[in-house]
Amino acid sequence: MAANWKMYKTAQQTTAFFERFRPLVQGADSCEAVIFPTTLCVGQAVAATAGTNIQIGGQNIYWGKEGAFTGEVSGEMLHSAGATWVLIGHSERRQYFHETDSDVLKKTQSALDAGLSPIVCVGERLEERKGGKTAEVLVKQFAGGLAGLTEEQFAKIAVAYEPVWAIGTGLTATPEIAAEAHKSLRGEAQKRFGEEAARQLRILYGGSVKPDNVDGLMKEAEIDGALVGGASLDPESFARIVKAA
Ligand code: PEP
Repeated sequence: MAANWKMYKTAQQTTAFFERFRPLVQGADSCEAVIFPTTLCVGQAVAATAGTNIQIGGQNIYWGKEGAFTGEVSGEMLHSAGATWVLIGHSERRQYFHETDSDVLKKTQSALDAGLSPIVCVGERLEERKGGKTAEVLVKQFAGGLAGLTEEQFAKIAVAYEPVWAIGTGLTATPEIAAEAHKSLRGEAQKRFGEEAARQLRILYGGSVKPDNVDGLMKEAEIDGALVGGASLDPESFARIVKAA
């Protein structure tokens, strides 16, 4: 279960979150919980979760190792701050920062080189779904962003299916819609990386997941977890979602 905090929470709010969240998920060890604070608060979040099962990730990296790239952070830097995961290709990165599938591939490779586990985000926009193009979009994003990985690299990533029309809108894909998209992504994984790799691939659903809809989503065998934005900002709400797993 992954929490994408986007550009929310100051240093003080980050500390306050973990003070309340830690006791709420104590003992919930059968689920992997990963929180993605802002880059600035990664080190602090790592310190606040030391000795617990909660893992910390970054929301983005640049693919270069170091250099004159003002404002960017490398995978190695994130890893050295104690992060173990990174989000790659979130739809907000694609929409507002013009990230392409080929950027997604470079960032994913670079994250893996740095020892981070990437969650690579894919998903269709509303007009693409309305135009019956969902499968086509997922095939294209998989081909451009993931098919270029080696088998060994692919075994280390997770994918998040996040229909753009469901992110931050309150509109959730029904469990059946999400499962269908997950199935088509798993099918692409099977074609490129084989049956076992496809079976092992963890596919998270993201898009307005909340405590009151998470159980229905998690009942689908195709859905291995959730990437949660808005509902992860509140400790009680995200703890409830973690326990649904
Ligand atoms: C997200 O940011 O990845 C997301 C799914 O947001 P929300 O849960 O708010 O729709």
